[in-house]
Amino acid sequence: MLKFALAGNPNSGKTTLFNSLTGSTAHVGNWPGVTVDKREGVYKKLSSPVAIVDLPGIYSLSPYTPEEVISRNFILDEKPDCVINIVDATNLERNLYLTTQIMEIDVPVVIALNMMDVVKKSGDKLDAKKLEEKIGVPVVEISALKDEGVQELMERAYAASQSRREGATVLASSPLAHVIDDVRIALKGKGVENPLFHAVKLTEGDEIEVKDHPAEMEMVEEFKKQFSDDVFEGDFEAMVADARYKYISANFSTAFVRSQKKEELTKSDKADRVLTHRVWGIPIFLLILFAVFHLTFSGDLLYLNTIVGWFNGGAGFAFDVDVGSDVLNGLIAIFFTADGISTPGAILFNLMGFITDWIGTGISAGLEAAGAAEWALGLVNDGVWGGISGVLSFVPQILFLFLCISILEDSGYMARVAFILDRAFRKFGLSGRAFIPMIMGFGCSVPAAVNTRTLADDRERIMTNRVIPFFTCGAKAPILAAVCGAIAAQFTTMDAGLMVFLLYVFGMAMAVIMVAFMRQTTMRGEVAPFIMELPAYHAPRFGNLMAHVWDKLKHYIKKAFTIILVSCIVIWFLQSFSWDWHMVDADESILRDIGSFFAWIFTPLGFGLQLENAWIFAVAAVTGLIAKENVIATFFIIAKSLGGFAGVDEASADGIEEVIFLIDQTGIGWQGLIAYTVFNMLTIPCFAAAATVRAELPKGKFKWTVVFWLGTSYVTSCVVYVVLSWWWTVFIFAAALALVIAYFVLRNKGKINISFKRKNKTA
Ligand code: GDP
Ligand code: MG
Repeated sequence: MLKFALAGNPNSGKTTLFNSLTGSTAHVGNWPGVTVDKREGVYKKLSSPVAIVDLPGIYSLSPYTPEEVISRNFILDEKPDCVINIVDATNLERNLYLTTQIMEIDVPVVIALNMMDVVKKSGDKLDAKKLEEKIGVPVVEISALKDEGVQELMERAYAASQSRREGATVLASSPLAHVIDDVRIALKGKGVENPLFHAVKLTEGDEIEVKDHPAEMEMVEEFKKQFSDDVFEGDFEAMVADARYKYISANFSTAFVRSQKKEELTKSDKADRVLTHRVWGIPIFLLILFAVFHLTFSGDLLYLNTIVGWFNGGAGFAFDVDVGSDVLNGLIAIFFTADGISTPGAILFNLMGFITDWIGTGISAGLEAAGAAEWALGLVNDGVWGGISGVLSFVPQILFLFLCISILEDSGYMARVAFILDRAFRKFGLSGRAFIPMIMGFGCSVPAAVNTRTLADDRERIMTNRVIPFFTCGAKAPILAAVCGAIAAQFTTMDAGLMVFLLYVFGMAMAVIMVAFMRQTTMRGEVAPFIMELPAYHAPRFGNLMAHVWDKLKHYIKKAFTIILVSCIVIWFLQSFSWDWHMVDADESILRDIGSFFAWIFTPLGFGLQLENAWIFAVAAVTGLIAKENVIATFFIIAKSLGGFAGVDEASADGIEEVIFLIDQTGIGWQGLIAYTVFNMLTIPCFAAAATVRAELPKGKFKWTVVFWLGTSYVTSCVVYVVLSWWWTVFIFAAALALVIAYFVLRNKGKINISFKRKNKTA
């Protein structure tokens, strides 16, 4: 099968084209660096099927970042039959810089001029024919997004793949042309493949090439001695880059004619004046985030009910109506409750509660009709369905949250967030580039950890991997939703949406604090520079959003019926049987004994031995290490079998009531519940995330990362519990923190010099 590779700058539309060619739903993000690994699919609309490989986005073929290495090695070693170089036509000069390098490889190349819809709309003119003549390889205008010109592109790529192409360089008229040619001939004589490409890279002083071809490097050194110039002072790499750009602007850019009316600010620029404002940028971000959490988790749309209550002496709308029919009452309660008008997230949550009840009732009625044994009833009703329905009841709501985040991402706003945060946190040792994987962590830590490959600096990569789990993922969100919902119902008038928002922000703040701390201790060093062009804002695409949400849904369903299912069955057995294998109540079970064995550890955190049935929270925290959804699943299974929900009637418990039931059973306070949530947010993430982080870290760093997670979660959760329980202790912790900060400041100014050098072990 023929194999075509898609190569181009980040954010030029490679993945969009890949998806349109192969019908797949790979993640398209409106910010650079979303695809970090190559991906394969098949294009079927030519006479024979063609394999398509989507390579990570790169600006050049030098081996500085892992993506550059992946893309470079693929084109050189795997010898695709054609390289489709995607060029963002709205950013022609910068994109063609990579083109001039790809052209030096002996491989058929076709240029896909993408985003032509934007060019045409803005009134600019781009003459593809003229460009094709100048460059010497086929140039096809396309719009990957609108699926225009794609078939022609593939036909021309197919035609190109049928003959060989020799590398050509735009450096032929540069002062280095002579030495490049000498090296090329020498390499060719030795039978090296792609001699021109290697000759250019060697002349630039590319580290890999220098190692591979020492003899030819001597030729370059020889030439360097005789060569003198005032501008570059022998920096051949800069000289080559300069020659490329000069050639591009003299020869290729003439194909592009900018329309006259371009002078005024574009809409994107105007929006950025506000959204990336020096002072208001972060408050606006927090406000947008708050709006998202409000719409997802609050039961009182726009706080209308509360506001009406203020004017009305405490009484809100009073939506607790009874129209005399259970079904109608139930339907009305999806949209209006005693809390107020439901937000979209709350509607989805209520609706799902309706559906899971209905299925649950059906299952148990079916089993009873079939005359199932008591243990089987328990296993299916309480164990399997109890746990899975607990997780599923939050899924639509979390998908809505995810939809909102995808909108922010696809519109181009998240790229601004990275930029704003870079400006604010650079002083603390964090770069905006590192924020991109962190923000991806709101979805799932696994792809976020993979994305850290784009970070060039080792220390930054380690730190980022460690704090990614602090950005609450979709699997932890149900814990926050259930716990905050229960607290709102039992302890305070504070709204669940606001509580969830504050916890999310707390997680992000912990990430920043811990990176700043590591920068002062084990991970000292400079912050890598952060350069990213901000993509233009655009309306989010429906198809894109649906693809994201669909991916997430598939992920949940797959997890629910594999790892969570198995966990539920194991948990159910452990909490249904005693050591001598008799069916007993949960509070006499094996699970209770296991949990009781280590529950004391959590006493300083507010969910240990001070509780009755302390084992429940201890056990749920541990099952969460397998998958964070297990925390809720465990709550449900235990709540159901502790007898709170024996009858079909009480099956209407909807995800929050189970937690309320456990509050009754254990006597845990809201302080302990918050500490519990914080512990789960900051501790070792699920198996999958931990394994991914392990693979992304340099050797030997993983065990310290585990220590970091355990230490951070334990200490933070303890401080949270103590401060919430005895508010005045906040002064003690603030003073301690001030001392630590003062120490770092003084040390950095060179005023004190206490060091903790390790003794020499080998002495
Ligand atoms: P990649 O980083 O090269 O894989 O780029 P993506 O495929 O993730 O696309 C980056 C952004 O450009 C996304 O927001 C796409 O929706 C957008 N995009 C891609 N192709 C086109 C196009 O032809 N026209 C327009 N207007 N936008 C596009
Ligand atoms: Mg991509």
